[in-house]
Amino acid sequence: MDDVVVVGGGIIGASTAYFLSKEGRKVRVIERDPAYKKASFPLSLGGFRRQFFQKENINLGKFALEFISNISNTLKTKNNPNPTASMVPNGYLLLFGPEHAEEQYEALKNHKACDAGTKNIPASKLKEIFSWINPEGLETATYTDNKIEGWIDPHMFHNALKNKAIELGAKFEKGDIKKISDIKAKTIVSAAGCWTKELLDDIPVAPQKHTVFRVKCPKHYSEMPLTGDLPSGVYWRPEGKEYLAGSPNSKFDCPDLEPEWDDFENLVWPALANRVPEFEQLKLTGGWAGYYDCNTLDNNAIVGKHPKYENVFLATGFTGRGLMQSPGIGRGLTELITTGKYQTIDLSCFGLDRIFAKEKRTEPYVL
Ligand SMILES: Cc1cc2nc3c(=O)[nH]c(=O)nc-3n(C[C@H](O)[C@H](O)[C@H](O)COP(=O)(O)OP(=O)(O)OC[C@H]3O[C@@H](n4cnc5c(N)ncnc54)[C@H](O)[C@@H]3O)c2cc1C
Repeated sequence: MDDVVVVGGGIIGASTAYFLSKEGRKVRVIERDPAYKKASFPLSLGGFRRQFFQKENINLGKFALEFISNISNTLKTKNNPNPTASMVPNGYLLLFGPEHAEEQYEALKNHKACDAGTKNIPASKLKEIFSWINPEGLETATYTDNKIEGWIDPHMFHNALKNKAIELGAKFEKGDIKKISDIKAKTIVSAAGCWTKELLDDIPVAPQKHTVFRVKCPKHYSEMPLTGDLPSGVYWRPEGKEYLAGSPNSKFDCPDLEPEWDDFENLVWPALANRVPEFEQLKLTGGWAGYYDCNTLDNNAIVGKHPKYENVFLATGFTGRGLMQSPGIGRGLTELITTGKYQTIDLSCFGLDRIFAKEKRTEPYVL
């Protein structure tokens, strides 16, 4: 019998394998597509932020920075002596209209309680800091400008975690698990992302297709933060000499990952040009789509022990934030598995009880 089997070698599987291996557990990671063609993490925007409503999400975002900042030491291996996640710490800027303002003022109390280091300004002052913005229709904005939020290269980060886990003894194998009962192990961790329901049919997670467009603009602001325009739901950030922009239009039941190209003209370009007038001159240069592991109950992580099994733990449902939460989730699951309770960030609020009781714990700031 195996000690630990992790199903899914994506970012959550790799992080959990790393933290468990560090504690001396013998981990086998089973991944059905080692090229990760449809996995969520390589198709993500790479963003990490602490600007959430709920304290646990804020604290997971804070830990992401701490962890990513140290990987040149912690994830160093013989084969990968200089690991990097290519962090771009440009910050996040979240823009709120009157319909979201009150909620955001509440969120700011949680930011303060968690010492998140975020700043808040009225929309009327936005142009003093972000000269490129059209503040029309906005009421307030929150941002960071001290290199504590930004984005990373998800592939490099995954590679660093996986390599270190392997050096610590983990084995990554190709395999497609059909039933959780097919695994014989002391501890099983389901890290199957948006496909979790195939293994655990009572978990309300579904693949939700999201499209990202790549665009070019004569005016390039390389220092621009990852900006989320809450009134339109469109978000964007610089990428090299271009920009990436996410569509707010998401879809379930899409077996293919063809981008929703019509969204560009209908939704994304108008919203971009409205908020950044220079984006009127955009040119579409490409795009892709990927699946969010969408928690259809409350848009929030589902993490912990499955109450119907002796030895099954799971982590999924991150709904657009699994990459940034992967360090905290891998560490937290390891604490739960090895000591029976969380030792650092208390993740019990993401447990399975609320799911089966259908008690929503919705995180409002999904991009
Ligand atoms: C367009 C887009 C933008 C995003 N932007 C961000 C962002 O900026 N920041 C952020 O934090 N998050 C972002 N995300 C979300 C993030 O990518 C996901 O939440 C995260 O990747 C989930 O990690 P995971 O390891 O659970 O799933 P995945 O990365 O999908 O990995 C799961 C793996 O499990 C394997 N698997 C599944 N079932 C089985 C089985 N039965 N047997 C064997 N293997 C199996 C799959 O092949 C897959 O490789 C974005 C996602 C998308 C699509």
